[in-house]
Amino acid sequence: MGLLALGTAFVVFGTLRRTASPPVAGLDARPSEDGRLLGHFPYPEARPEQLAAIAPGLQLRPEAAESLRALQRDAQADGVRIQVLSAFRPVELQRRLFFDVKAERNQSARTRAQVSAPPGYSEHSTGYAVDLGDATRPDLHLNPDFDATAAFRWLKANAHRYHFQMSFPRSNPQGVSYEPWHWRYEGSTTALRLFEPAQRFTR
Ligand SMILES: [Zn+2]
Repeated sequence: MGLLALGTAFVVFGTLRRTASPPVAGLDARPSEDGRLLGHFPYPEARPEQLAAIAPGLQLRPEAAESLRALQRDAQADGVRIQVLSAFRPVELQRRLFFDVKAERNQSARTRAQVSAPPGYSEHSTGYAVDLGDATRPDLHLNPDFDATAAFRWLKANAHRYHFQMSFPRSNPQGVSYEPWHWRYEGSTTALRLFEPAQRFTR
């Protein structure tokens, strides 16, 4: 295919993408020019063979799992107990989380999207994102006040050494609610490539 034809294909594809039906069934929202849906970037789902168990019912990509184990071990040596609350989430589970809670709380899609990604748009589906808590403060699990715990202070000071970074700091330009408990791994080329659009957006 010549360059011109390729260019035309891109233009046609771009137009199609803008006019195509909404990407998430049951959600009347369309992606913005940069591909985000209600603030969230699209992410592929990790395949089962790409995942390793880190605890019963919890899975991550092996390189993220190994780094997280080192992080937890070193935190523990400093007297801080970091607990993994959530790791890989299949798109189907994300769909239930998004729509069931939305219905339960009678939220609009936009309101819901501030605190939960629509299915197909969650960093958790990549197998590189985790929700972390302070094991001594279960009352602050998935609560913005988690940032007052020893675990959060330790993460803020050290997580980067294990290639974990907070995805949604306060007033993030993506417009997602402040989530001090949600961290993503960026220590491999695959992970870096996946999160590059989000990174570029933040810079
Ligand atoms: Zn999360």
